[in-house]
Amino acid sequence: SADEGDESPWLTAFVQRVQESIDDLTELDQRAGDGDFGTNMRSALGHFDLPLRGSDTDVLTAISRSYFVRSGGTSGAVFGAMFQKLSEAFADEEDFESALRSGTIAALQEIQDLGGAQVGDNTVVDSLSPAADALRDGASLEEVARKAADGAESTRDTTASKGRASYVGENARGVVDPGALVVSWLYAAAADDAS
Ligand code: ADP
Ligand code: MG
Ligand code: MG
Repeated sequence: SADEGDESPWLTAFVQRVQESIDDLTELDQRAGDGDFGTNMRSALGHFDLPLRGSDTDVLTAISRSYFVRSGGTSGAVFGAMFQKLSEAFADEEDFESALRSGTIAALQEIQDLGGAQVGDNTVVDSLSPAADALRDGASLEEVARKAADGAESTRDTTASKGRASYVGENARGVVDPGALVVSWLYAAAADDAS
């Protein structure tokens, strides 16, 4: 499988960043949604002690289960599915980049099958899809992270048509989608760890 070692530095960095950003994430969902996104992230990731111990596969599985079991809202299902697909890929693939590539492509497919969001709908798909495209093209992890970040930033110009943020319509304009932002942090953590 793609992982060796007893600690996952990139997933530790990702979880730490989310843990430190709960208030900022809450504020984004207050401005553009119903305000519970930060709470849902804290329910899923707040309880993890850092550094995260175990193989990448084991840690990804633990994160996935935690989202499904502990976190409410749309994000519990969306992030639960994303980390489940990533964990399956890390169990199957031989190296980190192959695992990240096939896991990201599978995660995007699953999330779109589940929720029907397209690029431009102001969801995690806006950062996950450009990350998947870049990985498919064989781009460096830095480039993948940049595409994911640009994709998250692009949600500033859109209003949500999926999820509860759709109820507030125009209010979402000018606000980055918090789900897309969190996804971009995962790819930033992967790129930092590899460099
Ligand atoms: P809720 O909308 O139920 O309050 P959260 O606040 O926990 O859920 O999560 C909202 C996030 O979920 C959004 O920021 C968006 O990124 C993501 N999201 C919402 N709907 C979808 C969807 N259909 N597909 C992918 N991601 C979605
Ligand atoms: Mg919400
Ligand atoms: Mg909600």
